[in-house]
Amino acid sequence: MLKIGCHLSASKGYLYMAREILSIGGNTFQFFTRNPRGGSAKPVDEADAASFRQFAGENGIPVILAHAPYTLNGCSADPAIRDFAARTMADDLRRMEYVPGNLYNFHPGSHVGQGTETGIAQIAEMLNGILTEDMHTTVLLETMAGKGSEVGCTFEELREILDRVKLQDKMGVCMDTCHVNDAGYDIVHDLDGVLTTFDRVIGLERLKAVHINDSKNPLGAHKDRHEKIGEGTLGTETILRVMRHEALRNLPFYLETPNELDGYEREIRMLKELY
Ligand code: FE
Ligand code: FE
Ligand code: ZN
Repeated sequence: MLKIGCHLSASKGYLYMAREILSIGGNTFQFFTRNPRGGSAKPVDEADAASFRQFAGENGIPVILAHAPYTLNGCSADPAIRDFAARTMADDLRRMEYVPGNLYNFHPGSHVGQGTETGIAQIAEMLNGILTEDMHTTVLLETMAGKGSEVGCTFEELREILDRVKLQDKMGVCMDTCHVNDAGYDIVHDLDGVLTTFDRVIGLERLKAVHINDSKNPLGAHKDRHEKIGEGTLGTETILRVMRHEALRNLPFYLETPNELDGYEREIRMLKELY
């Protein structure tokens, strides 16, 4: 069964998002755990989480993907910023236990001139301080576009982070089609080759989710500007090839395209029809 959805606003809670995604033709969704700029989170609404768990079971929502605030930086040169990232992520993961068995995605971080190796070490150190044996969430590193000093724009860098994490079974990767294109992986002309490389370097079994976005920029631009499906440099056919690929087809797919709800509804309907 195709698992497809989009990014939704979390302001009205889990049950609201679940009803909303079904209403626009999807069966999974992504949401920010708190203000994407990283403010404080609302207290967990336990009744809402419980209602959602039941609703998701009854209505075939197999999994959901939480996204950390994109401003978190576990490899900042400033120890106070690293500490804030660690405390925020630990709090997010405690809150995820109210909806166990789901995914939590984050941007590895920007090393801000410290160098990639230091960045990788600091990110892994943060994860080792946060992950626990008894947690029920899988934490995903997102493949990055490589703008500025972002860590995680090559499969090798992601692999190095994963290698240093002690609780390996709590970790995975989320591939963003816009980001990998902007990072220089040619999924338009050589999706098989890119996935073969991913498998050799990281292992396809580590891949747990896919962000399906078109890109405003050409291969290797290191930009990270998402585009609507079919209006960018990847094109609808590339996105469909990603969704149909035998190594990916069982994964959940999330649109993060520049759209409001009605635009997401159109893209979900189009991709489901063409798929
Ligand atoms: Fe992201
Ligand atoms: Fe993304
Ligand atoms: Zn992006």
